[in-house]
Amino acid sequence: GAGVVGLASALWLQRLNWKVTLLDRQPPGSGTSFGNACTFATYAVEPVATPGIWRKAPGMLLRPDSPLAIRPGYLPRIAPWLWRFLASSREHRVDAISQDLHSLLKPCMGSWQTLFDEAGANDLVRHDGSLYIFEGHERRSAIDMLAYHQRFDVPMRLLEGPELRALEPALNARAALALELPDVSRTLDPYALSLRLLRRFSEQGGEFRQGELQGVQRSTQHSERLTARLSSGESLQAERLVLCTGAWSRSLAQTLGDEIPLDTERGYHVLFDQSGALLKRPVCWAAGGFYMTPMAQGLRVAGTVEFAGLEAAPDPRRYRYLAKAARRFLTLHHEPASQWMGFRPSLPDSKPVLGQSRLLPQVYYNFGHGHVGLTLAAITGQLVAEQASGLAPSVSMQAFLAGRFR
Ligand SMILES: Cc1cc2nc3c(=O)[nH]c(=O)nc-3n(C[C@H](O)[C@H](O)[C@H](O)COP(=O)(O)OP(=O)(O)OC[C@H]3O[C@@H](n4cnc5c(N)ncnc54)[C@H](O)[C@@H]3O)c2cc1C
Repeated sequence: GAGVVGLASALWLQRLNWKVTLLDRQPPGSGTSFGNACTFATYAVEPVATPGIWRKAPGMLLRPDSPLAIRPGYLPRIAPWLWRFLASSREHRVDAISQDLHSLLKPCMGSWQTLFDEAGANDLVRHDGSLYIFEGHERRSAIDMLAYHQRFDVPMRLLEGPELRALEPALNARAALALELPDVSRTLDPYALSLRLLRRFSEQGGEFRQGELQGVQRSTQHSERLTARLSSGESLQAERLVLCTGAWSRSLAQTLGDEIPLDTERGYHVLFDQSGALLKRPVCWAAGGFYMTPMAQGLRVAGTVEFAGLEAAPDPRRYRYLAKAARRFLTLHHEPASQWMGFRPSLPDSKPVLGQSRLLPQVYYNFGHGHVGLTLAAITGQLVAEQASGLAPSVSMQAFLAGRFR
């Protein structure tokens, strides 16, 4: 998989002297990694399932104007995932998950900086922080968010009206208060960033092959080697295989002996191509489930969650929701110039799956990054590359193994 996770893994493997082939059925960077909200969310210790979620979610599902949706036909398929999701929302589980995520988030930008420097990508990155905005009646949510993140030493500051207006004059008075997160960085264009990583990969002798992985087995000639079978009938030989196939990883992991409850939280974006200068930094309205991010192509309004699996067509109501919700806070004179839907690879406990597969220890997993795949791509690529090279990973991978679902 040549999304941002596969690209970052490939570069870390090259740094550890591996000769690497990247395989993807689509052009590199054109999957979920293409259309995200562009933020390196270093603060994101809190999992998606939090203690009050079972009370909030049903109401959100019933509202037509809501950041959360389930296609009725998909409910039977997603029910076991939702059950595990609710089980993860218990207070002691949330605390443990936050600690685990914190262990990856703390070193994530150091790992990215190595790749930005080597790929010549610093011009695609800005370090102006981000804002979470709240309406007047949402003060409690702001205070709770502040208190939770302070426990993990996440730099965060509460701003009231005038101070907020000074930072982001385009926001209207509905944004009554905000939390400023000064340590958040963003990319001006996640797709351009993927292409920059790809360029570095190729310059170092890496090869990109377009093709679909169908399965992996031990090589019949060398027991230490692997044979990757492609749907074209071709095969590739390798000593190690890192599986970075995002939301499509479940069935491949199944063939490797691991039942992983991976599903997809589909997300959407709309782009206001003439409004990029309105905001100076990414602004998130948590209650609305989306970010408004100034980027190279304009203002990208990205987010929301829809459970509808990997096959169903996008729901146009989700685009309309995003455009309308952005207008709650900003005066936007034009209609969106483009729209997009993508597939977050999501586990019910909000943690990626890292480490060796059960049946073939030369196969390493690196998928399931959910809402924070851009943020965590470099560090998880680094860890998996270290492990695949027989080195002790810089961060313990114990909490992220596939075996946690057995
Ligand atoms: C609306 C939205 C906003 C987001 N905002 C943010 C954000 O601000 N910050 C953040 O950190 N994260 C964000 N995310 C999440 C982030 O985009 C994802 O977690 C990340 O892109 C996942 O990367 P990936 O490489 O695993 O997946 P992908 O980019 O989907 O790559 C997987 C690749 O695997 C390939 N593949 C699959 N199966 C096969 C096969 N059998 N053979 C060959 N190739 C295969 C696919 O073609 C694809 O190219 C957001 C996501 C969405 C949807």
